[in-house]
Amino acid sequence: MSFSTLKLSRQILTTLNELGYEKPTAIQSKAIPVVLSERNLIAAAQTGTGKTASFVLPLLEQINNRYKKQHKKLRGKRIRALILVPTRELAVQVNESIEQYAKQLEITSMAMYGGVDSQPQKQRLIWGVDIVVATPGRLLDMAHKRALHFDELDMLVLDEADRMLDMGFIDDINKIIERLPDERQSLLFSATMSQDVRALAKRAIYKPVEITVAADKTSKAKIEQWLVTVDKSNKSALLSHLIQTQNWQQALIFIETKHGAAKLVSQLDKRGISAESIHSGRTQEIREKILGDFKSGKIRFLVATGIAARGIDIGELSHVINYDLPAQVDDYIHRIGRTGRAGASGEAVSLVSKDNFRELCAIESRLGHIIERKEFAEFPVKKTVPVSILNYVPKNKRS
Ligand code: AMP
Repeated sequence: MSFSTLKLSRQILTTLNELGYEKPTAIQSKAIPVVLSERNLIAAAQTGTGKTASFVLPLLEQINNRYKKQHKKLRGKRIRALILVPTRELAVQVNESIEQYAKQLEITSMAMYGGVDSQPQKQRLIWGVDIVVATPGRLLDMAHKRALHFDELDMLVLDEADRMLDMGFIDDINKIIERLPDERQSLLFSATMSQDVRALAKRAIYKPVEITVAADKTSKAKIEQWLVTVDKSNKSALLSHLIQTQNWQQALIFIETKHGAAKLVSQLDKRGISAESIHSGRTQEIREKILGDFKSGKIRFLVATGIAARGIDIGELSHVINYDLPAQVDDYIHRIGRTGRAGASGEAVSLVSKDNFRELCAIESRLGHIIERKEFAEFPVKKTVPVSILNYVPKNKRS
């Protein structure tokens, strides 16, 4: 299938061609026709499948056809489409995608998120903005301040719905939905379809078409996962060794705590490896600067806590390292989804010590297979990590 069969306008097709997108990904070929036919949608799709374009492209197409071609002006403080996302980083990225795809269209958009002065965002809304990409808290705040009104809105997207719920945004989301016109098109995207996500979909989305994109076989094959078992005290030395011997150009390194992140950066530094860290203890400004430098390749190794790293989109990320295994299996799936995106190949490497055995069992049970183990003679292990029993849940513990 090619993009030209998807009933997208010439301007969008030209832009996609310039971006080098040859054909739609699975989620794009399924979702775009549904959205263009004005139906509601819930879609199970992970980051890295091309899901952003799967809703942004038809949104742009509809706004262009309905309003721009008819020269219908937007009133002040009004918006036409709202995209709710869990983090400010994701808000910025989705907005960047919109700007990229709307290059040849006269559609306006903005990212709206907390932690920064709200005045410039208010200012931006004064003449109305076609598409707002927002985190729930700041959006609600702006609505309370009457800096924006939803009476002209006709499209809602809930992106990474599972993440928004994990981050405790449910009350804010409900309050926002109450304020939206009933007559609207609603879309929900989520990597996982938990009961909570389904309950949200039931409330917010009327008679949706449901689509699922199984983690694409081709992209799956391109993410090589392996792990090294290691004694806890040897972790940072092992990581330095891997960086120095495995020829990794860039890696996003996940760690549990912000204290741990700072410590690891200094341990790497002592071994001659320059790294940076992002975590909740750093200001938004610094986080954005570091992310920009990481994306441009200026920073090669970025240590990030799970929360700070949510929503990071780096097109060519070749390596994701779990310095600490995440407590939640979904987080593991999300993390490895950050590499090997849209056709690029990638490696996801985990450092696993004995006290991570439960997490490892849960992850491997979900994957349905054991992750390949590699050994490094320089790092013999004293506390061996047993091989997981798939589908095994310890009797005395809830998994
Ligand atoms: P997403 O899943 O939305 O985070 O997208 C993952 C990456 O795939 C982004 O960097 C997009 O620019 C890229 N991408 C999306 N759609 C396509 C496509 N049809 N062909 C090639 N790359 C794409």
